[in-house]
Amino acid sequence: MIALAVDLGGSHAACAVVNGEVVLACEHIELAHAHGLMAALPALSAALQRAVVKAGVALTDCAGVAFSFCGLVDPVRRRVTSTNAKYDDAPGIDFEAWARSEFDLPLRIDNDARLALLGERQAGAATGFDDIVMVTLGTGVGGAAMMGARLVRGRHYQAGCLGGHLLARYGGRECTCGARGCIEAEASTWALPEMCREHPAFAASPLAYLPKIGFEELLRCAGGGDVCAAEVFRRCLDVWSAGVVALIHAYDPEVVIMGGGVMSAADQILPAITEYVRQRAWTPWGQVQVRRAALGNTAALLGAVPLLEDASIE
Ligand SMILES: [Zn+2]
Repeated sequence: MIALAVDLGGSHAACAVVNGEVVLACEHIELAHAHGLMAALPALSAALQRAVVKAGVALTDCAGVAFSFCGLVDPVRRRVTSTNAKYDDAPGIDFEAWARSEFDLPLRIDNDARLALLGERQAGAATGFDDIVMVTLGTGVGGAAMMGARLVRGRHYQAGCLGGHLLARYGGRECTCGARGCIEAEASTWALPEMCREHPAFAASPLAYLPKIGFEELLRCAGGGDVCAAEVFRRCLDVWSAGVVALIHAYDPEVVIMGGGVMSAADQILPAITEYVRQRAWTPWGQVQVRRAALGNTAALLGAVPLLEDASIE
């Protein structure tokens, strides 16, 4: 099956033509999310048209458009239900009408971590599994779950997507979701600068002199022997590990796939989580495998065909 695929990130979008497990052509565009998503739709249409030309296919060869959105989505009504300070106009957009008028194709839309899970199952680290938890470590912490080869969606289509908002510390740091102490409030890229500033050794740390603190900077300083950076990173590993165990207890998966930009440092993250899961997860049947995502930025694009084929969305 050939499909058009859009993967919308916070400040960019990938617009592609995919054929099953292969990305035939992909156009990357920068977006200013402050201007809203409605204003960006013409640029998305144009990028998809360029990808179609590059791929050498006709629109009539394509089965539909699969749209990966960084927020909560109702895949049955094809609507965004809630955003988190990105593309706040998205709930008012009729994506289906857009795809019909621009490409004369049907459209399906879902949360980006769900698309990434489908992509990793189609052609990446989760091939051959029907019971999967996906975790994306990035600006926030995204999640998705599949049980018995069906995506977990729930009554309001948000089940499984809020893995980053499971509790890591009762009464902890204020989160963007309205709760406190969520995994992403205790260990994510957006929370990191404040976490470092609150550490008692911050003033003496090289981190205090950096214009920006991300995980790359944190790991560089930790590697150089900085106590503040090392302790904050250790804390993040503990939060992520405890979060993965909570997700295993919730969804009973065979494999947990860890993706997102922070996982470019997988060598320093995965062994700690794997060991914590081995010690702490209650899985008498055996060991849950914790794997690094294999597809990187193409995972959500390769989720396009399985999303379009998903018989549970009608
Ligand atoms: Zn939260």
